Amino acid sequence: MIYRCKVCGYIYKDGKEPLECPICQNTNCFEVISEDKINYEFFKESWSRQVKWMNSTKYQNEIMLNPDETVLKTLAEAEGNFLKSGKQAYCPCRLLTNNQLADKKIICPCYFYMGEVELQGHCHCSLYLVKK
Ligand SMILES: [Zn+2]
Repeated sequence: MIYRCKVCGYIYKDGKEPLECPICQNTNCFEVISEDKINYEFFKESWSRQVKWMNSTKYQNEIMLNPDETVLKTLAEAEGNFLKSGKQAYCPCRLLTNNQLADKKIICPCYFYMGEVELQGHCHCSLYLVKK
């Protein structure tokens, strides 16, 4: 099953609903998403939810989604392919190690993105940017 957090848009594939969202730490916050809903609009909505959540909690700088639709479509397709092949919605710009615990850190939004956005003004994929 594919689950998405109603609060922050985090996407997770698992046999049962995760107990707690690893990003926003809410519980009982997941909705089930059927596989035929996995498309560009789905990812854009999920990422927008993430941006909204981040701006309400984490950052001093306001962040935004990359306005370049070509970048977003490429990322959505790559993450969608991961999900459709039974994997997590991994960051397509990072290498998988095939170690489940290590790879958990690169499920989008990856473990590193917050630091990257603060330091460089964008995450590794340029999905999330600081609003100038
Ligand atoms: Zn969440």
